[in-house]
Amino acid sequence: MKTEAIMAKLQAKYPLEKEYLQAVQEVLESIEDVYNQHPEFEAAKIVERIVEPDRIFTFRVTWIDDRGEVQTNTGYRIQFNSAIGPYKGGLRFHKAVTPSMLKFLGFEQTFKNALTTLPMGGAKGGSDFDPVGKSDAEIMRFCQAFMLELWQCIGPDQDIPAGDVGVGGREIGFLYGMYKKLAREYNTGVLTGKGGTWGGSILRPEATGFGALYFTQHLLDKAGKTIEGKKVALSGFGNVAWGAATKATQLGAKVVAISGPDGVCHILDGITKEMIDYMLVMRASNRNKVEDMAVKFPGKAVFTPGKKAWSIPCDIALPCAFQNELSEDDAKELKANGCWCCCEVSNMGCQPGAIHFFQNNGILFAPGKAVNAGGVATSGLEMTQNAEHISWDAQEVDDKLHFIMKSIHEQCVKFGTQPDGHVDYVKGANIAGFMKVATAMLEQGIV
Ligand code: GLU
Repeated sequence: MKTEAIMAKLQAKYPLEKEYLQAVQEVLESIEDVYNQHPEFEAAKIVERIVEPDRIFTFRVTWIDDRGEVQTNTGYRIQFNSAIGPYKGGLRFHKAVTPSMLKFLGFEQTFKNALTTLPMGGAKGGSDFDPVGKSDAEIMRFCQAFMLELWQCIGPDQDIPAGDVGVGGREIGFLYGMYKKLAREYNTGVLTGKGGTWGGSILRPEATGFGALYFTQHLLDKAGKTIEGKKVALSGFGNVAWGAATKATQLGAKVVAISGPDGVCHILDGITKEMIDYMLVMRASNRNKVEDMAVKFPGKAVFTPGKKAWSIPCDIALPCAFQNELSEDDAKELKANGCWCCCEVSNMGCQPGAIHFFQNNGILFAPGKAVNAGGVATSGLEMTQNAEHISWDAQEVDDKLHFIMKSIHEQCVKFGTQPDGHVDYVKGANIAGFMKVATAMLEQGIV
């Protein structure tokens, strides 16, 4: 297999799908050497098959806004790969959603889910619906209209969606209510990230951020460092950033920045419990403005419009917002300001130039598919609880999440340790995930 030749074919076939091509390129570059040691993979054309989704559903979603006007959006579900289990992955509601974005996310999800140790295939879905400025009633009507189409594509043993950007507990509630009415299935298994009283796992809302910090602890430990007292800059203020801020603070780090599309809040003395709680209020308001934190906590949070979290001096950078949010220039600014570690929490949060800069300048770096896998892993734990009709307490879920993040770190070390002894976490995560999915595909024949 030659990465260049496969990429040339994909580029010709999908010339406009930038994010998808970027995600595939990163994985193929990482696995090329290992792949070429396995002629049986080449014979079964595993790479050519693994880069294509199993199937894509596209549907029209029509709903009525608060002024009585008819609105039309496009909905998607991309079932990417089912080699190791039923399709599993989130739904993203964001105005910039395209098939390319969801294909990149579904592709990444396939390897991420393989790393979790749980039997889950990869999927992603969503819509170009923009939640910013929408009322709760509008969000409910949109979710119901979206589910009117989606329900026939999903099922507890078939495809289990969850949240992602723009889809949290509120949206999962509306989606689930409509699914039940349509499917007449009442066993709680079809979506994860549900409310605690109707099948949701305790700690699922926190899990992506908590898991990211557990992974960061293992990475720092391996490098002979600790997190106590370190300054952490994180981007975003949604569910993932909230969980990361909570756990980083519990572990003794000082969160000095959060950000939004409007700019950055420098948090002078480190984030407090009240500020972390306020992040939830900001998310629920649908305003999408981080400036609200500075208005609520004057003198403690200082807002600068148009700037990113990466402009605030820190030890550890945690991108928690959106793909490609951290550029090579941002990476240089981080280094100039003293940053020495970046754990990517968002999916593909760092541009390729930023990753190469980190790797070539001795900055510890780990990719999203390893760092953020605690979210979908806890979704997997929610599925287990649903299937057994029981619920575990917080300690049990947290212990299992700890175990999974430790195992993901071990897989990265196993497959990513280089001849000079340093760990290439990008290679480690990609090779570990790929080997598991590719082996399963091989054993299941040409399908
Ligand atoms: N959207 C999350 C992710 O990127 C969670 C998916 C899930 O829980 O299924 O992994």
